[in-house]
Amino acid sequence: MNKQFVNELADINTNFAQWYTDVILKTDMVDYGPVKGTMVIKPYGYAVWENIQQYLDKEFKKRGVQNAYFPLLIPESYLKREAEHVEGFAPEVAVVTYAGGEELSEKLIIRPTSETIICEMYAKWIKSYRDLPMVMNQWCNVMRWEKTTRPFLRTSEFLWQEGHTVQSCPEDAEKDVQEMLKVYVGCLRNLMAIPTLQGRKTEKEKFAGAVATYGMEAIMKDGKCLQAGTTHNLGQNFAKASNIRFLNKNGELEYGYSTSWGVSTRLIGALVMVHGDERGLRMPPNIAPIQAVIVPIANHKPGVNEKCEEVFNLLKKADVRVKLDNTDNTPGWKFNEYEMKGVPVRLEIGPRDIENNVLTAVRRDTHEKLTLNLGNIVEEIQSLLKDVQDNMLKQAEDNLKASLIETDDFDELVKSVNDGKVALAYHCGDEKCEEEIKQKTTIKTRVIYAYDDSHKCIYCNKPSKYRVYFGKQY
Ligand SMILES: [Zn+2]
Repeated sequence: MNKQFVNELADINTNFAQWYTDVILKTDMVDYGPVKGTMVIKPYGYAVWENIQQYLDKEFKKRGVQNAYFPLLIPESYLKREAEHVEGFAPEVAVVTYAGGEELSEKLIIRPTSETIICEMYAKWIKSYRDLPMVMNQWCNVMRWEKTTRPFLRTSEFLWQEGHTVQSCPEDAEKDVQEMLKVYVGCLRNLMAIPTLQGRKTEKEKFAGAVATYGMEAIMKDGKCLQAGTTHNLGQNFAKASNIRFLNKNGELEYGYSTSWGVSTRLIGALVMVHGDERGLRMPPNIAPIQAVIVPIANHKPGVNEKCEEVFNLLKKADVRVKLDNTDNTPGWKFNEYEMKGVPVRLEIGPRDIENNVLTAVRRDTHEKLTLNLGNIVEEIQSLLKDVQDNMLKQAEDNLKASLIETDDFDELVKSVNDGKVALAYHCGDEKCEEEIKQKTTIKTRVIYAYDDSHKCIYCNKPSKYRVYFGKQY
């Protein structure tokens, strides 16, 4: 492949979809798998996922969550126990009917999510209030046979974490889903520099089988929403379907109250589409697999390679994720390459820099060039990375604010959402009304902003139930 041309990307402003595909393929994050709809997550993409995992795993464990692992295959009969759940997932399940050289007597579902099998096991393990709360999480893959797929955003197999809790009262189950939503929002904000809109989903958009679903929505560069994570209060629905009962303190048998919550490799797609620009990816330092790259200039000159290695070792020792590229590619090629990969800070070290005991740093977020003193280079770089992180969050917040409009006029809502906005409007809460809007315009509700019955529904004019965000989605 001619490396001179690898960084030719489609125009981000006129062809965002192609730009996205170009970026994720050309930065070596992902490749297509041989089975349609599957993806191979390559090391540069997987490193992003690992950073998400590390952040969340730490936050989960602070809150008493334990990791476990449940099987990939689920007996078909389990899925059928919760009526809404099976209706929600049946169209996209993959089923194993033949194994070990013969037809199976019971079909096996490849997990689209694990509520049914985890609840089955919980029912076996939970006997009394002393066994509660039961709080487990698994990091795993799931499979949903989607018709239209795009790497990270929608793939038939993806990686995620799914947390499942059982509590002895509805209040504690509700606390779990609120708390975990906060953890997710914090992950996006602190690690990925992505601000979100968060709140309860409407009855129509909630998870199949849940009492209440909460979601967080990130807004992409083109104004479309991406559901970045959800938490579900399942009430006693799954406990009744799976017979999760415990002896309460009065010696009576009671059904448990369960929750589930998850985020997936979709988040990598969000990262690309929130921060990317015409030159490629832009990685916020806290999640960047490479936070700083050192590019030697005129490294045939004496002392250049040595100085580069010295700086590399200092930064590495200080836990900066640093890479030294001393391959024989030209500096110009390297500049393009790491710019496209979104490395937050590029460090150039040449003979003249060494003479002056400095290096040249270039920020990926602003393209600003800085001269930094080699005498306290570790502190300089650490503070620079923090600046880049803060600035990228600020930019993303400004974009989010610029995407929002408030309206009481349905035509304006449709027009502005089609123009890449997210619209805040009053709605009656009626599922049929919401469905009609969706059928007519492909616009869906995202999350509820606030309950408010003082206005009229933007579509049917009946009294409002809440104010809700409307948008187009990935
Ligand atoms: Zn209505």
